[in-house]
Amino acid sequence: MANKKIIKTTRMLHYRNYVFALALLLGLAAATTTEAQTRQFTRQDTLRGSITPERAWWDLTYYHLKVQVNPADSTIKGSNVIHYKVLEPNKVMQIDLQEPMAIQKIVQDGKELTFKRDGNAYFIQLAATQRAGAQNKLEVFYGGKPIVSTNPPWTGGITWTKDSNGLPFIANSNQGSGASIWWPCKDHMYDEPDSMQISVRVPENLTDVSNGRLRGIEPHNDGTRTFHWFVNNPINNYGVNLSVGDYVHFGEKYEGEKGTLDCDYYVLRENLEKAKVQFKDAKRMLQAFEHWFGPYPFYEDGFKLVEVPYLGMEHQSAVTYGNGYQNGYRGRDLSGSGWGLKFDFIIIHEAGHEWFANNITNKDVADMWIHESFTNYSENLFLDYHYGKQASSEYVIGTRQNIRNDKPIIGIYNVNRSGSGDMYYKGGNMLHTLRQIVNNDEKWRGILRGLNKDFYHQTVTTQQIEDYLSQHTGRELKPFFDQYLRDVRIPKLEYQVNGKKLKYRWTNTVDGFDMPVRVMINGQEKWLEPTTEWKELKGLKKNATVQADPNFYIEASEATAA
Ligand SMILES: [Zn+2]
Repeated sequence: MANKKIIKTTRMLHYRNYVFALALLLGLAAATTTEAQTRQFTRQDTLRGSITPERAWWDLTYYHLKVQVNPADSTIKGSNVIHYKVLEPNKVMQIDLQEPMAIQKIVQDGKELTFKRDGNAYFIQLAATQRAGAQNKLEVFYGGKPIVSTNPPWTGGITWTKDSNGLPFIANSNQGSGASIWWPCKDHMYDEPDSMQISVRVPENLTDVSNGRLRGIEPHNDGTRTFHWFVNNPINNYGVNLSVGDYVHFGEKYEGEKGTLDCDYYVLRENLEKAKVQFKDAKRMLQAFEHWFGPYPFYEDGFKLVEVPYLGMEHQSAVTYGNGYQNGYRGRDLSGSGWGLKFDFIIIHEAGHEWFANNITNKDVADMWIHESFTNYSENLFLDYHYGKQASSEYVIGTRQNIRNDKPIIGIYNVNRSGSGDMYYKGGNMLHTLRQIVNNDEKWRGILRGLNKDFYHQTVTTQQIEDYLSQHTGRELKPFFDQYLRDVRIPKLEYQVNGKKLKYRWTNTVDGFDMPVRVMINGQEKWLEPTTEWKELKGLKKNATVQADPNFYIEASEATAA
């Protein structure tokens, strides 16, 4: 999703006085113990955020979610048929559904099962023997008045609103809080069904757009109809989507790396003409991202943009859009460089997540940088593709004004806790810095494409991604990632020019930080390999000037001669 903390953060920056900024940051770091130490997590956090024994024994293979959406009283009711493979025999299964929604009954092999509720987790007592290797299923019937989102998409819930003609306009958004705010599921990121059917019944004057492809529209004799959507790929929970409104449709074909991709667009009737202009960015997005990341990961399901009554979300193959048919982030340039107004932020950012979030998905939201850092970075690769390297560089450097360095980017494991919002702009700058270290754009592009190929449709850990990047850049990046993902300090290149000698080292870093850095010495490019110990470069012209390449997210300062 898009970062919400933009308006507040842009104010704080533009310190030219690094000494002051640094003192401030160090003060903050010292005064703040880690969140893990100060916050008490509850049993509910653990049930939600960990792979409990009641989850671990079965592998999700298929969902058929059937829901009826009733705008008249803001309720949802229906069922979910959950197919699974038994990995190890067990008698108790955990399924999640958050209050105030409630499960009414659960049926397996025609028999009703008993269950116990523990907050948002249901523990189902299975009657039949669960043999290892068996493919079983059960159906969970549920309903209720789901929580209404107070600030979509950042607070989870359903948004019930109306379009300008007074017709219902409804959508879900639940990244973070979880899909189980509106449907019963295994609400943990590590396990995804291999495919899914979503059947949504709505009043007959409305259309539902969910993920994947529309298989059919089934009329009923009570003034409703059901839209059957089928997702032919693994899908993460929070990506499952219902969007209901008086939609009109237009579409186009994109000739891409894997053949012809169907692109379908659903917008409110009143916005059709605006959308036909603004959605031209979809094709530009596909050109740029297929170049940098490889084929769009869900050709079988097509690509869609769907208008919703909130800013937007990376719902898989049905990216939701509410950016007001204007460029930038609601018309604003997050980088201050001017380049942010060259594209529709929501189309580019949320669709970037098709590669990083939907194709490569974090197992634990503590590793959400895998989604947001790469996707933030995708914005500047979009610019790079269409406007050149200089534009992309100015953009990503410009977004540094939004970095807080308040807490680490990696969150807390097993309690559904993501890290700092710095996973966006700092994460993007970290990857831009890594591109400099690789110093070979074709190789770098090969690595980004390799990630999407080798982790195709997988859920992964940060360790897998860090190891992959170390292996394929040919450089041990552990200190690099420890610095930028697990620490809040900005590495500082400290140097002294003394006669014809340059002394330099890293300070303000984790142990063993050894990132190479490009500097200009008297206007000449030179690579240094600093460590946390002083090193020396001799034979310079007297009184040389030294300047670190601004593409590196670091600080640099001349130390007074000892
Ligand atoms: Zn995002």
